[in-house]
Amino acid sequence: MSNRYRDTAQLIQQAAPLESFYCLSTEALARQAKRFLEGFPGVIAYAVKANPTPELVKELAASGVGAYDVASIAEIALVRGIMPEANLLYDNPVKARYEIEQAYNEYAVRSFCFDDELEFEKLRSVIGDDSNVELTLRFKIPTNNAKYDLSAKFGADEEEAIRLLQKVQAAGYRCGLTFHPGSQCAKTGSYSEYIVTAASIVKRSGVAIETLNVGGGFPSRYIGEQLPNLEEFFATIGQSFNEHFDSRSCTLVCEPGRALVDSSISLLTRVKHRRADNTVFLNDGIYGGFMEQLFSPIVHPVRVFRNGEEHSGNEQPFTVWGPTCDSLDKFAHQPLLPADVAEGDWIEFGLMGGYGSSTATEFNGFTSNRYVYVEKGFPYKAETLM
Ligand SMILES: *Cc1c(COP(=O)(O)O)cnc(C)c1O
Repeated sequence: MSNRYRDTAQLIQQAAPLESFYCLSTEALARQAKRFLEGFPGVIAYAVKANPTPELVKELAASGVGAYDVASIAEIALVRGIMPEANLLYDNPVKARYEIEQAYNEYAVRSFCFDDELEFEKLRSVIGDDSNVELTLRFKIPTNNAKYDLSAKFGADEEEAIRLLQKVQAAGYRCGLTFHPGSQCAKTGSYSEYIVTAASIVKRSGVAIETLNVGGGFPSRYIGEQLPNLEEFFATIGQSFNEHFDSRSCTLVCEPGRALVDSSISLLTRVKHRRADNTVFLNDGIYGGFMEQLFSPIVHPVRVFRNGEEHSGNEQPFTVWGPTCDSLDKFAHQPLLPADVAEGDWIEFGLMGGYGSSTATEFNGFTSNRYVYVEKGFPYKAETLM
């Protein structure tokens, strides 16, 4: 990833790319990192799964992000290679024994998440007595205000959490609690509901915790989504934390993925074919950067280029297909595009930093992992900026 351009227009003018390209603005990324670091009343741990592109992780490290939520040995190795002193939170609640061994012995990971008794015993059998290790218990509550409900897979309920937290303390480990309100979480109140339950678990178990990790879930403002802005999320979380916990003995942590990286990356695609019935075929799709379109009609901000110039006018809804031969390879919504959009035009989608290239496959021989740097990133309108 050595190519640098002033902006997307210059990329098109100089390279006329035939394949799809992610355009990363490190300036925009640094700005968003600053917003989290200065606005959130606690530690920022970047959730690497949202986008593990090394250049992006390097920029976050340079911007002052010192903690990382990792879920696999590959993510651990990636971050250690870029920032040897990073604070790694191994917050995948279910790990193979060999993964725990490697993380603890080879990569000096000292914070592990779990959500049931068997995983706790697994961790204990590998780690043994080490009072430097922090075990954070993932709990859940029966609520869901997010697009992607993550409590379906992980989390102990309140009664079980009380029992498990007492076990962590009895074994001599440092104790933490964590939750994840679900990705693309729409309500600030979801976090406070969880924080109230965390306080209840602490009170009823009699176990003091050193860390409260509120997970990720901060949303991106895709088109048409009425959402509070980031600062409102920070304020609600800070207020709720201060009401129920003492910041002198307990550290607040969050693990943003999507909202930290989304706005600094756009995806430039090209129209391979256009049919008369307002249908276009792009060179990227569901098996590439748009996997989330399978589950949810997320509407990305778009702009169209023709011959290196921005092209607009008389917008109409279009059916959008990706490049594979699979009929699943179709956008869940119909983006508004200029009525005369044609073969060879470029379509750039904003808010593509999270879960774009990170989830892309090579199905049918199409890849979606090329990056260039742009100085000036996608020009968001006020309503699509968090
Ligand atoms: C996916 C994930 C995150 C990041 O979620 P976003 O919705 O992208 O902010 C944070 N923590 C954990 C444990 C996760 O699984």
